[in-house]
Amino acid sequence: MEINRVNTRIIPFRFEYHSPNSLEEALALLSKYGSEARILAGGTDLLVDMKQRLIEPRHLIDIKRIPELRLLREDSGGLMIGSAVRLRELERSEAIKLRFPLLREAVSSMGSVQVRNMGTIGGNLCRASPSADAAVALLALEAEAQIAGPTGIRRSPLEEFFLGPRMTLLKPDEILTGVYVPYPPEDGGSSFMKLGRTSLDLAIVNIAVVLRLKGWTIDHCRIAMGSVAPKPLRLRNVEGFLLGREFAPEVLEEAAGMVEASIKPITDIRATAEYRKEASRVLLRDALKTAMERCGGRRP
Ligand SMILES: Cc1cc2nc3c(=O)[nH]c(=O)nc-3n(C[C@H](O)[C@H](O)[C@H](O)COP(=O)(O)OP(=O)(O)OC[C@H]3O[C@@H](n4cnc5c(N)ncnc54)[C@H](O)[C@@H]3O)c2cc1C
Repeated sequence: MEINRVNTRIIPFRFEYHSPNSLEEALALLSKYGSEARILAGGTDLLVDMKQRLIEPRHLIDIKRIPELRLLREDSGGLMIGSAVRLRELERSEAIKLRFPLLREAVSSMGSVQVRNMGTIGGNLCRASPSADAAVALLALEAEAQIAGPTGIRRSPLEEFFLGPRMTLLKPDEILTGVYVPYPPEDGGSSFMKLGRTSLDLAIVNIAVVLRLKGWTIDHCRIAMGSVAPKPLRLRNVEGFLLGREFAPEVLEEAAGMVEASIKPITDIRATAEYRKEASRVLLRDALKTAMERCGGRRP
């Protein structure tokens, strides 16, 4: 039978829906059903894939009823964000607004209010799209992924969590329970920028910068970019170049010239590789300037 890939209202196969109330229950279901099962968070990516029959899981394990995955918990060093926290909750959170304006900027740029009301932070990370906006912001914030499996909890730097398009460190019997985001420097500044074809589009290129200056010298610099490689990237060579340098136009120019060596963009329906390279240079300069202007406590 010809598959209808246009009318995406229909999920054209049978599956069983599970709604566990605890992490233990969810892990047990995942172990029991193995590769036949998929975690369902907001479903904004997963259900689209199912409607297009890119995947046909026999069991969906909905994690939204698990209380510990729905929490935001601050401690003295940072914030733990449960994986099932919705993007819209992050956008509206006072703690995020005050301490992580970068994440707020990134999340607010994602999809529509409807998508942000359903989509979760964990879903954005686990889908591992090269253009994932929240992932890029969290990379620049040096977040850590917290993963639960049959043998307990482990943590991994987010940078190591992404392996490639739709590929992460997660084993089939593991769940991402949250991300721990350390507080960025108090007197630093940050900026998220995204270039898309329309306001609802996925990024052609996106960038997140966290910066701190001592006088005019850059003494903290984290840069991440998306949609320019098989996974969201930290631009460590550019960071290393900028560290200890004066914030000056010629330094920004040289940094922009280094971007190409770090990225491997492709041509796809959204843009050509050449356009992405040029856009990356421009976004880097603009995002650094904006982050610099926000240093010293000016928030977006
Ligand atoms: C119209 C539209 C616009 C969009 N715009 C953007 C955009 O601008 N920027 C952007 O980055 N994304 C965008 N997206 C993609 C999507 O909305 C986000 O990636 C969202 O954060 C996904 O979260 P979710 O909870 O819906 O994930 P789901 O669809 O529920 O899950 C995604 C994948 O992750 C797995 N998964 C989810 N949670 C876990 C977990 N805790 N542990 C293990 N595996 C898990 C699922 O099994 C699935 O494979 C858009 C999507 C749509 C439909």
